[in-house]
Amino acid sequence: CAVESENQVLSIAASVKKAGAKLFRGGAFKPRTSPYSFQGLGKQGLLFLAKVREETGLSIATEVMDVETFDLVEKYADVVQIGSRNMQNFSLLRRAGKSERPVLLKRGMAATLKEWLMAAEYIMENGNPNIILCERGIRTFVRHSRNTLDLSVVAAVKKESHLPIIVDPSHAAGVRDQILSLACASAAMGADGVMIEVHNNPEEARSDGEQSLYPEQF
Ligand code: PEP
Ligand code: MN
Repeated sequence: CAVESENQVLSIAASVKKAGAKLFRGGAFKPRTSPYSFQGLGKQGLLFLAKVREETGLSIATEVMDVETFDLVEKYADVVQIGSRNMQNFSLLRRAGKSERPVLLKRGMAATLKEWLMAAEYIMENGNPNIILCERGIRTFVRHSRNTLDLSVVAAVKKESHLPIIVDPSHAAGVRDQILSLACASAAMGADGVMIEVHNNPEEARSDGEQSLYPEQF
């Protein structure tokens, strides 16, 4: 979820790489519900991610939260993530459209498929055709998971769009024990990939520990 320290990211990166991961996603700028929660290490976190790339050869994805920090984030990221809460931040989308980097565009937690695809259009219309959509669960009435993974949207995206779509079962489930099944189900739906949170010591994680897999589970 979040970059916490150099040791933490290097340890997780080494184990997920060994398991076959191609891209390493960690947040340096974290959009948190509470302003009193850990907000990420900022630039220091980006430097630790650069170290991960240098030591493991893994490509780096990391979230950009605002236009002000875009230049900084895109300097370090191979892929820039726009999170759910910013899916309709149109000035941020336009800035991402000017970027050389591919954009990982997460679905807003209450966004329709059309709204999501139109958000992607903002990026494309500004000159950047390289977008990866990411389904991360939508808000529903259920209490047995953090969000409800909308698996059928994978099929709908395949029908409506040429863009690749990956699935983030971690933020959909919110709990570790649902992740493996949801990831397999995403593959069955034809998703182009999955993004899964892993932590070397989830009990001590500064964010999203309950949904983070142990390295050996990944
Ligand atoms: C994340 O992927 O780090 C994240 C905060 O997820 P989301 O934007 O889907 O809530
Ligand atoms: Mn997270």
